[in-house]
Amino acid sequence: MALTIFNTLTRRLEPFIPGGVPKEKIEDYPPVTIYSCGPTVYSYAHIGNFRTFVFNDFLRRYLKFRGFTVNHAMNITDVDDKTIAGALKDAITLREYTDKYTNIFFEDLKTLNIEPVEHYPRATESIDAMIDIIAHLDKKGLIYEKDGSIYFSIAKFHRYGRLSNVINMDIKAGARYDADEYTKEDIRDFALWKAPKDNEPYWDTPFGKGRPGWHIECSAMVRTIFGTTIDIHTGGVDLIFPHHENEIAQSEAAYDEPFVRYWVHVEHLLVEGSKMSKSLGNFYTLRDLLLKGYSPRAIRYLLLTAHYRKQLNFTFDGLNQAAQALLRIDNLVARLNDIKQDASPNQKVIDQCNAFLTSFTETVDDDLNIAGGIGIFFDFIHDINTMIDSNSISKTDAEYVISVLKKVDTVFGFIFFPEAVNLNKEEIEALIEERNKARKEKNFAKADAIRDELLQKGIILQDTKEGTRWILKS
Ligand SMILES: [Zn+2]
Repeated sequence: MALTIFNTLTRRLEPFIPGGVPKEKIEDYPPVTIYSCGPTVYSYAHIGNFRTFVFNDFLRRYLKFRGFTVNHAMNITDVDDKTIAGALKDAITLREYTDKYTNIFFEDLKTLNIEPVEHYPRATESIDAMIDIIAHLDKKGLIYEKDGSIYFSIAKFHRYGRLSNVINMDIKAGARYDADEYTKEDIRDFALWKAPKDNEPYWDTPFGKGRPGWHIECSAMVRTIFGTTIDIHTGGVDLIFPHHENEIAQSEAAYDEPFVRYWVHVEHLLVEGSKMSKSLGNFYTLRDLLLKGYSPRAIRYLLLTAHYRKQLNFTFDGLNQAAQALLRIDNLVARLNDIKQDASPNQKVIDQCNAFLTSFTETVDDDLNIAGGIGIFFDFIHDINTMIDSNSISKTDAEYVISVLKKVDTVFGFIFFPEAVNLNKEEIEALIEERNKARKEKNFAKADAIRDELLQKGIILQDTKEGTRWILKS
């Protein structure tokens, strides 16, 4: 069986073929090229955002687990209406403002054990590539200028609307939208390049002074990093229209080749059954949950365990259940580590492990069904516990099971393997002291290295107004 993924563009489950040409063996495929829409760095990301980011992480981890190599980019939107407004309000430069929230975002990714991807392009560093797209569109007569801004004329791009299925709706050709986001009922020409308003940062371009619209940055970065059609583009379902629709229009009209092979969209997250909103009081950043005492592992587990095409109802009850589930896994790891009796390998244990890996893979291969995969994982835990109960697992077998857990944790990222070296409180605090000193000296590389060292040992640092706190990851 092979990996299949639901493609939003075709609305079908499709076999996954990186590069578009089937190969005999997985290792013969070229690296899987993935582009994920990243955060707009104007504030703290909320747990709804992190559902998508945890999914992106699972996707790349699973592809690697299956033997593919990946080449993955996620953009940092560091110029838009909100970042500009935030910098003006705080009376600092746009770069200072967005650097602050970019660093916070990267810290949050580490906390959730999200692997770094290969590329993190920033919008403000991709201006030339945006101008290139606009120049190509200009040559083809697909753009027009109005009040100093440049718009894409969607009526001239006949495939417009295929992704979001707005084709049969009333396209208001010639009507324009300056805001980056608008509703599905309102299909209008979108701004590629925006005339500068007072006090706004701007760039000098052949199309006049101004700054980019939101949609064009992703098209520009895909082109700069990958050069041609990519395999997978991910994002939340709320990005299908207009953002991804507009990305397709710009890129395909400019370069006359398909933009993306597989469009993969992650459903919404609800909190206690309702849409998350500040006015309902159910709006949570990752840090809000950590301060309430929930562990990053439990949060990662809960965000990961629902199928990506289903809405996820995030509840505190669910977080507690996630913590319970992790406890069951921790208990198994502890029991396996406690086994001392030596004996030759028990074939039954090896068979059980291999059967688990096979059925886990078959299940997750079916449209990335991680929910099903985790169900099978808990059956496996049950079976191994039963074997430990009946003394049929030796030290050698236990080591084999641990190696299988480590293998499957390259996908999960939430199993805790206690390190042989345990740090005591004084050692942790000495390292925090050293990190604070490094930060004062602006030696951020050293500060980050210390943070990573502690994280590896299961300790998470939180920088608060009152100073640095630490909590155990498990
Ligand atoms: Zn995007």
